Amino acid sequence: MLEGKNALITGSTSGIGLGMARALAAQGCGLMLNGFGDADVIEKVRSGLASEHGVKVAYNRADMTRPWEIEALVADAWAQLGSLDILINCAGIQHTAPVEAFPPEKWDAILAINLSSSFHTIHHALPHMKAKGWGRIINIASVHGLVASVNKAAYIAAKHGLVGLTKVVALETAGLGITCNAICPGWTRTELIEPQIVARAQALGVDIEEGGRALLAEKQPSRQFVSVEQLAQLAVFLCSPAAAQITGAPIPIDGGWTAQ
Ligand code: NAD
Repeated sequence: MLEGKNALITGSTSGIGLGMARALAAQGCGLMLNGFGDADVIEKVRSGLASEHGVKVAYNRADMTRPWEIEALVADAWAQLGSLDILINCAGIQHTAPVEAFPPEKWDAILAINLSSSFHTIHHALPHMKAKGWGRIINIASVHGLVASVNKAAYIAAKHGLVGLTKVVALETAGLGITCNAICPGWTRTELIEPQIVARAQALGVDIEEGGRALLAEKQPSRQFVSVEQLAQLAVFLCSPAAAQITGAPIPIDGGWTAQ
């Protein structure tokens, strides 16, 4: 379905972003991967995706806290792939603490990576999409872009901001063949939430699996984790012709979390 299209996915060296890279490559889409991690592991992922799906896959280590590296990343994607049709903003970090104990440097890093980096990628990618009259921008927000929880001031401020940015970009691109939407996942088992599972298990004196179940029980009525594959297939759908009129939408995929 996406043959001839090319996607830049920030934060695609692990978790949800990597799952989206796999799903898009399976549809014939070329990729620019981004994110941190062991260089050898990333190269294996890059070359594996390219050979398995017969698509061009590039990698750029741009740091999402550095606007000038983000500008170079978008330019590199366009130069290496030949077009930039799909942009998925997925890079993200977490830190939990009450507001009065929240380290200001963590606030700055979370706002930069989870919110401002998406402004910079969109700012530089939109002219390429407008020139082609086709584009899909998918911002990976969170249920925490829609509702709040304690101890996550920076993350929730950033994700609410990302939902707002999504709506503005949708309005500014309406009718131009470009859509901009936000996916709002509930608990999804990746490295990002592992410290919270460990902390919950320790607090309750139970094992990791029981800690995960306790986390789910508190917020996610299905009591099941959202899978990376489910999120990836939602992204594929948003790139399909059937989704051409879905724009400016924050889309929860959260086992009922935000229905409460
Ligand atoms: P993850 O830790 O597996 O992935 C995060 C990715 O971001 C990695 O590729 C990492 O290298 C990259 N990254 C971090 N800092 C970066 C930086 N400065 N520059 C470039 N890349 C950087 O976690 P994940 O759960 O896959 O998270 C992906 C996105 O999904 C995040 O935006 C997160 O907020 C969001 N999300 C996750 C959940 C969940 O339950 N896991 C729920 C809702 C939303």
